[in-house]
Amino acid sequence: MSGHERLLINGGLVLDPRSGSAESKDLLIEHGRIVGIGPPGTVNSADAARHDAHDRLITPGLINAHTHGHANLVKGVAGAWTLEASLTNGPWLAGCRDPETMYLSTLVGAIDMLSKGCTACFDLVYQFPRPTKAGFMAVAQAYADAGMRAVLAPMVADKSLFQSIPGLIDALPPDLGDTVRRFDLASGEQTVAAIESIAAAQGDLADGVTLAIAPTIPHHCTDRFLRDCIDIADRHALPIHMHIAESRLQAIVARQIYGRSAVQYLAESGMLRPRFTAAHGVWLDDDDLDLLAARGCSVAHIPASNYRLGSGVAHVRPMLARGINVGLATDGANSSDSLSMLQAMRLASFSARIFDGPREEWLTSSEVIKLATLGSAKILGLEACGRLEQGAYADLVLFDLGHIDFIPDIDPVNQLVTCADSAAVTDVMVGGIFKMRDRKIVSVDTNNLRGRVRDSVARLAAATGPAHALAEQLEPHVVAFAQSMSSERLAFERRIRPRFA
Ligand SMILES: [Zn+2]
Repeated sequence: MSGHERLLINGGLVLDPRSGSAESKDLLIEHGRIVGIGPPGTVNSADAARHDAHDRLITPGLINAHTHGHANLVKGVAGAWTLEASLTNGPWLAGCRDPETMYLSTLVGAIDMLSKGCTACFDLVYQFPRPTKAGFMAVAQAYADAGMRAVLAPMVADKSLFQSIPGLIDALPPDLGDTVRRFDLASGEQTVAAIESIAAAQGDLADGVTLAIAPTIPHHCTDRFLRDCIDIADRHALPIHMHIAESRLQAIVARQIYGRSAVQYLAESGMLRPRFTAAHGVWLDDDDLDLLAARGCSVAHIPASNYRLGSGVAHVRPMLARGINVGLATDGANSSDSLSMLQAMRLASFSARIFDGPREEWLTSSEVIKLATLGSAKILGLEACGRLEQGAYADLVLFDLGHIDFIPDIDPVNQLVTCADSAAVTDVMVGGIFKMRDRKIVSVDTNNLRGRVRDSVARLAAATGPAHALAEQLEPHVVAFAQSMSSERLAFERRIRPRFA
């Protein structure tokens, strides 16, 4: 992923996420990296091609710390789904996907992200009933073709939603209970073997794509299965990424099953380590945060998904106060629809303001930008991304300062978070190569995308019809059960409970 010619991007307002300031600078790019940066006219640019950026704000490529490529063909699917409703619908949302469909679904997400200024992502890849090498390689190819960097983790479990929540099956009407008792995920051994085959083929992954592992939710995995996942991670040096304490119900179920929080359980099982990322982390208490900090773990903050599913709001300030690395993410289209990191930044900024406390505990715009760049880069293990400095990868985004979002340009860094949407993005570069130029994706042909997606969605609707119909029957029962269980007491709150005098 390298640009071969020397290119000078001159005169742009260049954002430094470490300081949160933006200054007029020239950037010299060679072999995919920034090899020179300095005030206009000071960078030796002999023989370099030029790209004039005088009316542009230049930021590092935004980095999405948590998404799901398989979910982009169900964008806009839900009016009012909780997390548990979404998981009930999982079998048809992700079902019947051959490698070609997985490729197309991932490509849609990659184009969505790129066109909104995102140049790298962490994708938790799901294939029912277990991962396949062919499916996984198709996902990797989609990112490579679109020109994004990606860390891909097979998202796996050996228990169904129904097996994972105590009492749920017995609370269903008898016929539905009998049906879900027959739900069978692939055995843990088969899934572990499938991950091993993918890990053995890591060397075949497309350029810019690396491997991780994602045992999806702690209580959806048996102890034995989690131990096997840790073993694979250890042997292949893979980052681990899990959904942790996403909904109130999950926090309660963990206490029922483990007698303690999921984080405490995982700490004792040897799961927590510097390359461990807890996605969501809405229902974490102070002890959980202390443990994550002590083990050097990261958190992926995903506010759009948490709002959309009514999961509650993650409290980021106490994470940062403990030195926990926090990245920012959109989640998959099944729970956030748009994969906009610009929206994610604005939501992160505003979410910090709903908690009781002085305004000094809110997140400033420059702190939010840091989450979406340096914080997410650390989660992906891309230390040469998320910053515009000598030696960093030339992954960058140009925003039009002539766009109405920046008129007047009182404080462009603040306006990146408070005003900008994707219409202000003009150019996106990854590894020194333009993937979007003059507001048009140039890395892949998008001309017939709409028709291809429409055909694919129609084919999937027919194939997943029976699973969809069953989910519609199950959903109200699951949601009602989760609601009754969620009313149990926790020592802390992450959702507003209005009290009237
Ligand atoms: Zn997720």
